[in-house]
Amino acid sequence: METLGNQRAVVVKERIDNINPCAYCGTRQSLRLYPTYSISGDNFYINRCLDCRAVFLSPRPTQKQLDQAYDDSYYGEGEAKFSACIEKVLDYFRSARARRISRYISPPAKILDIGCGNGRFLGYLINQGFEGYGIELPGKAAQRAGQIPGLKLKVGRLTTEDFGEIFFDAICMWHVFEHLTEPKKTLKVIQNILKPGGYLMMSLPNIDSLQSRLFRGKWLHLDPPKHLFFLGASDLISATKEFGLELIKQRYFSLEQNPFGIQQSILNCLLSRREVLFEALKGNDTYIKGYPRCSITLQKMFYLSSFPIFAFVAALEAILRRGGTMELIFRKEET
Ligand SMILES: [Zn+2]
Repeated sequence: METLGNQRAVVVKERIDNINPCAYCGTRQSLRLYPTYSISGDNFYINRCLDCRAVFLSPRPTQKQLDQAYDDSYYGEGEAKFSACIEKVLDYFRSARARRISRYISPPAKILDIGCGNGRFLGYLINQGFEGYGIELPGKAAQRAGQIPGLKLKVGRLTTEDFGEIFFDAICMWHVFEHLTEPKKTLKVIQNILKPGGYLMMSLPNIDSLQSRLFRGKWLHLDPPKHLFFLGASDLISATKEFGLELIKQRYFSLEQNPFGIQQSILNCLLSRREVLFEALKGNDTYIKGYPRCSITLQKMFYLSSFPIFAFVAALEAILRRGGTMELIFRKEET
């Protein structure tokens, strides 16, 4: 028994990483969980911080790796990120999100969308009479957002000086938090510019999901090197409490994200390259250049034909609060 215990201690010791800081809290003591790799072939580890329990990409990606990951192939090179047909489906999900927000606030409330992408989600709210503010990094998405009538857009990153006098009724971050290089600083700014009683709404990959545990380094929503860190629901709820934010609603089902998370991850396990179908749907011709067309056609057929099955599996995951992504709504305390 003692030998077994000693062996385990040696294995744990070998997995301790004292060099790479946690991407959420900066502590330099973490445990390597499993390896992963980006679509560019760069190798990383997924570590768990021994202090705040965040799961993060290690080592931190270099600026060159990030620049490459966020080039025009990320935002889509044409008029839109995806084809017209897929954008139509995405529009349905954007309008559904806008409807969910309208349950909490009424026009002419002020809403800020951090990482607003093409701004179409804000467009729905502006049409209802809300005042819509968006922040997006320079690139194709920001150019598209600039064309949405009535949208007040800042191209760049959120800073403390941006909205000195403006207080928001709601702030949204849809699949943005995990991309942030200074997440705590962003939460602090949010705390400052959100009205007392205002709402923070965010969606993000669920690192505690069944699909994350099953597919590990090949899970779609790890998305290295763009996703820098992950917090499970309970760790995120504790982390946001420090900034005066109280959880009021949680949702673990997303027809948009979760079935595809399983389907693409299965393909990642079967094929030598990751995210081939996803990149093909985005029209990333550089990535799929030289890849057999018949294989991509077969992958698309697999996606469409098995979608109902994996939508059902995603619903089961959600019942257990283990869905591949989660949407959480927090309310800022009144005082
Ligand atoms: Zn940490």
